[in-house]
Amino acid sequence: MTASPLAGPLLRAENLTMRFGGITAVKQVALTVNPGEIVGLIGPNGAGKTTCFNMLTGFYTPTEGRVFFRGTDITSHKPHAIARLGLIRSFQKTNVMKRLTVFENVLTGHYMAGRQSLLATFFPGATVRRAEREARESASAIVETMGLSRRMNAPASLLSCGELRLLEVAVALAAKPTLLMLDEPAAGLNSHEAGVFGETLKTLVGTAVQSLLIVEHNMELVMGVCDRIVVLNFGQMLAEGEPRAILSNPKVAEAYLGKAAA
Ligand code: ATP
Repeated sequence: MTASPLAGPLLRAENLTMRFGGITAVKQVALTVNPGEIVGLIGPNGAGKTTCFNMLTGFYTPTEGRVFFRGTDITSHKPHAIARLGLIRSFQKTNVMKRLTVFENVLTGHYMAGRQSLLATFFPGATVRRAEREARESASAIVETMGLSRRMNAPASLLSCGELRLLEVAVALAAKPTLLMLDEPAAGLNSHEAGVFGETLKTLVGTAVQSLLIVEHNMELVMGVCDRIVVLNFGQMLAEGEPRAILSNPKVAEAYLGKAAA
């Protein structure tokens, strides 16, 4: 039975399991993301976070388990079909073209997401002009949302690391996600930049996106922005809860530090 898209969690994964030959990278993971939530997926290197992202977004078909997005079973959907439903992800590798300006990058993100119809491309006229105008308005609004208005016409190659990370999110937003999944979006940021980045992410929920799911190693950022955190270790769920509970969980400390917490 298909649940109403209006009720229940936005994303629900049950019993997610991924085996590569003899290696079990992810085992029986259950994950939900509710509307309005920022959920963090954390764990030490090799814990299975990216493998989970790949299963949730159709890049891998889980060996076992199912994934539901807005009540629809998307387990065996192709990545582009999942993206069209509004589940958009970023990758660890940057999606930014360094020679293009900030604005052009976001506009490109809009077209890459196939927001303009092919028909309109081949039969130009009023429809195309309207689509073009809407795309530009949308791109400029996204640039503003991400706090990059001042850098609108700067080539991406001139951006600071903090600005670049914000632009990467802006490009992902151009695809108009309902749920945006970010894989290490704050990589390389210093504490100040991570603070600005985190505050910007928080403003997106309920405005630009319904919810965020974040894989991130920067604990200050994760603890500062997430409503709920799921911890993986050796492919399995180790803990789940609010940031404060996760911070004080001795099993989590042990997984990260490799020894029992005092
Ligand atoms: P990191 O924080 O370092 O990015 P992660 O938590 O994202 O790590 P994964 O990249 O999901 O971890 O890897 C989980 C485990 O699965 C690792 O042991 C990894 O070597 C293994 N793995 C991932 N992808 C493959 C693959 N395509 N073939 C074989 N093993 C894989």
